[in-house]
Amino acid sequence: TSTTLTPSFDEQYVATRKVATVGRVEISDVTKSYGANTVLRDVSLTIEPGQVVALIGPSGSGKSTLLRAINHLETVDRGSITVDGRYIGYERKGDTLHELREAEILRRRTQVGLVFQNFNLFPHLTAIENIIEAPVAHKRLTRDDARALAEGLLARVGLADKADHYPRQLSGGQQQRVAIARALALSPKVLLFDEPTSALDPELVGEVLDVIRGLARDGTTLVIVTHEIGFAREVADRIVFLDHGEIVEQGTPGQVLRNARHRRTRDFLAKVL
Ligand code: ADP
Ligand code: MG
Repeated sequence: TSTTLTPSFDEQYVATRKVATVGRVEISDVTKSYGANTVLRDVSLTIEPGQVVALIGPSGSGKSTLLRAINHLETVDRGSITVDGRYIGYERKGDTLHELREAEILRRRTQVGLVFQNFNLFPHLTAIENIIEAPVAHKRLTRDDARALAEGLLARVGLADKADHYPRQLSGGQQQRVAIARALALSPKVLLFDEPTSALDPELVGEVLDVIRGLARDGTTLVIVTHEIGFAREVADRIVFLDHGEIVEQGTPGQVLRNARHRRTRDFLAKVL
């Protein structure tokens, strides 16, 4: 006779988290100013495939700008950002970087999904149409294939029965889950979340966090800007604290949340915890 050992939930979790092979983000010495306002100062951060990084910090500290820079929605003044060794917005020629043509930037940008605070769904399209749009445009999928993909993604975020609903017919939590499905439709290597739950009524936060938890378990590389410190503690491999455009401190949730070395981190945590 043979016995099959069922791994514990934690073992399964670790096992699935280890399979990720894509989605390495390397941010090197990034500096960015708007006029006289320096918003990012020499930010360097390497995120390994499948890692989940929570980015925390006060309002105005540069969190959104950093996310947008990863996606090349913002250019930076100095430094560089690559995803799996490739620039989203540039091509290296010798020692210099040349900005790519818009069409190529758009193509590469599909490797990095971005989910916004305010969902940003197209109001005149149904849930499933919102998801189909980008893969048809960017991945050259037929509408039928895109529809099949979208149905699977809606099921994954628990909204199989809402395919034909318009955004105004959905709760905020449901809209955000559609937005996540839409981001997943392009099979991004990395998914960025910019305060994905801060526009939601408290009772709707949990359903969105559940979906993000699932993505973390599936080994997707995630960067999550969040004020949900409890969630960050649970889901993140690493917490990065940004203040005035600088990475002040980073480490495991235990290190940063319980044993912060810097006063600025402790002061911030005292306000949000
Ligand atoms: P956070 O997301 O941490 O709240 P942001 O990255 O949105 O911070 O903003 C960082 C700083 O950059 C703020 O001082 C903000 O006013 C400024 N900023 C952001 N976007 C722009 C812009 N498009 N033009 C000028 N200043 C901006
Ligand atoms: Mg922001």
